[in-house]
Amino acid sequence: MLLIRSSGWFCLLLTALMLTTALSAQAGEKIVIAHRAASGYLMEHNLASVALAVGMGSDYIEQDLVMTKDDQVIVLHDPTLSRVTNVAELFPGRNRADGQFYALDFTLAEIKRLRLLEPYSNSGNGEGRFPDTSQNLQLSIPTFKEELELIRGLEKTMRRDIGIYPEIKQPWLHRKEGKDISLAVLKILREYDYTTRDEKIFVQCFDPLELKRIHDELFPALGMDLKLTQLIDDNNGNETKTLEWGEWVNYNYDWILSKSGLRAISAYISGIGLDKSMLVDGAGNLLRPTLIDDAHQLGLVVHPYTFRREKESLPPYAASFEALLEFFYFKVGVDGVFTDYCGDAVRFLHTRPTAPAAVPTGGEILPSQPVVDPESPKEPQVPQTSPTSPAAASQPGMPVAPAVPAVAAPLPTTVPTPPGSVAPATRLPIVITGPEPAAKPAPVTPPAESKYR
Ligand code: CA
Repeated sequence: MLLIRSSGWFCLLLTALMLTTALSAQAGEKIVIAHRAASGYLMEHNLASVALAVGMGSDYIEQDLVMTKDDQVIVLHDPTLSRVTNVAELFPGRNRADGQFYALDFTLAEIKRLRLLEPYSNSGNGEGRFPDTSQNLQLSIPTFKEELELIRGLEKTMRRDIGIYPEIKQPWLHRKEGKDISLAVLKILREYDYTTRDEKIFVQCFDPLELKRIHDELFPALGMDLKLTQLIDDNNGNETKTLEWGEWVNYNYDWILSKSGLRAISAYISGIGLDKSMLVDGAGNLLRPTLIDDAHQLGLVVHPYTFRREKESLPPYAASFEALLEFFYFKVGVDGVFTDYCGDAVRFLHTRPTAPAAVPTGGEILPSQPVVDPESPKEPQVPQTSPTSPAAASQPGMPVAPAVPAVAAPLPTTVPTPPGSVAPATRLPIVITGPEPAAKPAPVTPPAESKYR
């Protein structure tokens, strides 16, 4: 098999851009967030996958961020390297007692020697998936800077703004290692001119205390003010732990999902991100019927995760990926979705016939054409493509020009500000934090000119 050497991803980039139409996903007031880049089609988190996600018309590209031993910020979902690289083969014995190879234990130079080997089945292997030869591309883990360099460049090439959605991963874990990942990430963002709320960026994190710190301390010190998204977990401790009475315990997010909690975070947060199963149960019933309306009234957007098209990933109430998107975008009323299948989601928004966007306000799901009664043997299908767009059927994942007018309203470029009646932030719940972060950074003067904007 022919090996495509290090510049191979660039061929993919060009291909992706050639396939791009003049459209982006901004067909309406709904956005598509490319979860770990175009991870449903190609390996997650690498420059080729970013180029593909951009080429497919995604509104935002997600970056999961962790740090290396020598304080570099890289784009990697797990704090460990084993799942997606050949680290065990290249660096035997460099694992910790738990058997894992932590990025925090490797220098950037060492990490750059690793090859991405994400299993073919990891992100699905359905139609439109890059062939099972992607390991021959010799893709590597990008630094955050490399990814921003690519995206800022593509903004010029594509003549459109490309959103980014960086996630600061596990500040508590980095702090235990003496690293201030939030400060490191913000300094890089500042270097690439992401400094104001007008920039197309949401900074996301599962750690509520860290987001408060970013807003209250780091933003003023760095002369920045960006939109923030509070990620909400189901209290399983996979994402955030806090030190309480000398013991690391799972963070409990229940308070945030109360009205008072949402009101409190809305003083400094622009959006919330949560698993879609926290909004809708397995039968398609709303679990928190007023949450979306409450969030919107507070000026918060709602971006649930993660939307996948594989049959085994579809809940019983959705007959297809498109039915699932229709349900969440236009019945539940979310503002955007994190999806592995950004191209399919972009195509869905562009080819969907304009329809009334009914948003339930009560506890019941509105009768909906695409939503399937789990008891019913017949599953109605959402029209996925226009009959006049045969290309859509033959190229899953690729955005195609809509044969019907796109949803009329343009995407807002900024998040609406909370109404004036919103109460100021109330005191956060008392949680004993881990060791204090590194010393407060000194204010830095922004550069007068930049090549990036
Ligand atoms: Ca993430």
